[in-house]
Amino acid sequence: MDKETQPPAASSHPRHHAVPPYLLAAMAACDGAWEAPESMREIISSQPTLDKADGPVSVTRTRIATRARQTMLLDQALLHERSTAHQKLTWLIEPTGRLNRIISDAQGVEITPGTLIRSEGQKPSADIDVNRAYDGLGHVYGFLADLFKRNSLDGSGLVLRGTVHYGEHYDNAFWDGTQMVMGDGDGEIFNSFTSSLSVIAHELGHGLLQYTTNLQYQGQSGALNESIADVFGALVEQFVAGDDAAHASWLIGKGLFTKAVTGVALRSMIEPGTAYNDSILGKDPQPATMAEYVKTTEDNGGVHLNSGIPNRAFALFAKALGGNAWETAGSLWFNVIATRTLPENADFATFAEQTLLQARRDHGAGSAVESALKQAWDTVGVVPRLKENDDE
Ligand SMILES: [Zn+2]
Repeated sequence: MDKETQPPAASSHPRHHAVPPYLLAAMAACDGAWEAPESMREIISSQPTLDKADGPVSVTRTRIATRARQTMLLDQALLHERSTAHQKLTWLIEPTGRLNRIISDAQGVEITPGTLIRSEGQKPSADIDVNRAYDGLGHVYGFLADLFKRNSLDGSGLVLRGTVHYGEHYDNAFWDGTQMVMGDGDGEIFNSFTSSLSVIAHELGHGLLQYTTNLQYQGQSGALNESIADVFGALVEQFVAGDDAAHASWLIGKGLFTKAVTGVALRSMIEPGTAYNDSILGKDPQPATMAEYVKTTEDNGGVHLNSGIPNRAFALFAKALGGNAWETAGSLWFNVIATRTLPENADFATFAEQTLLQARRDHGAGSAVESALKQAWDTVGVVPRLKENDDE
């Protein structure tokens, strides 16, 4: 078994939470209005103290100088090298296994996996969270199998495991390196995390990335990790709903907030920074362009913040193409991941360049797809280029 198909132990894997620390900190900083459940206090207290007057939204924003050197003209040798690598991939293998889901119940304790409640083929449980987790994992599996002929997250039939009712009023969901873990929410701000298919698929997207990339969960490579998980979450939701790019909400976590919150979702891919504007949560701090790029040491260098920039590029690209986002745009994004050529410290410019290379491979140089993609990256202010070395 090569290292790419072997999951790390859950305990050694960074948890990829759905709700970013800055949002939890905003909730905690709002005196009296919302008290952090016991389960969230450790996460909140591990974050650097935020000045309540400024709030988490006013971290230093810095204009990133536009890169002078464009490397849009790629030499043929590089293209050849990359397309050869592409052929070695396991992405397009025929599924040989089958869907296998196991849903367990942590029963309000912070343990995994908990008590087994429903395994593959068993009838629905009386517990709606169990069934939503089970169905969500099924949708993710079906999406990968139908569209990419991929047999589960690892391409080898990985059993999809989910734990529900994790912790008490737990305001988050995460992928722990081996499985999806869902909290019930506190009921005041957050509903149960199983209520959003885009959140379920986002967490599984981290699982997919674990088997296809080694993106460091820090800075721009971390924001790419978050963004690609959002793209995956949105596409699975659109695919299941049958929403084309023009009619899709492009929201991550729609339905997650209770009615008490002034907001529609955790994030908006098409209009980052507009998902919520609430007295407790503050305003959605995601930037929509590189000019607003947030430079911060919090949230692993703003991984949940700056992900708004590549998120918007994807949504603009898919909308410009029209039709279903999971087809041309989605395939292109996932082919980039499947080439396994993304450096672990890839920045937005490197990723953008790789998507353009992929557009040429898939659709030819000078194609309408390539020009729509160039336009999308241009709109969000990312200048595509390849990393010259890994130390940069
Ligand atoms: Zn995430």
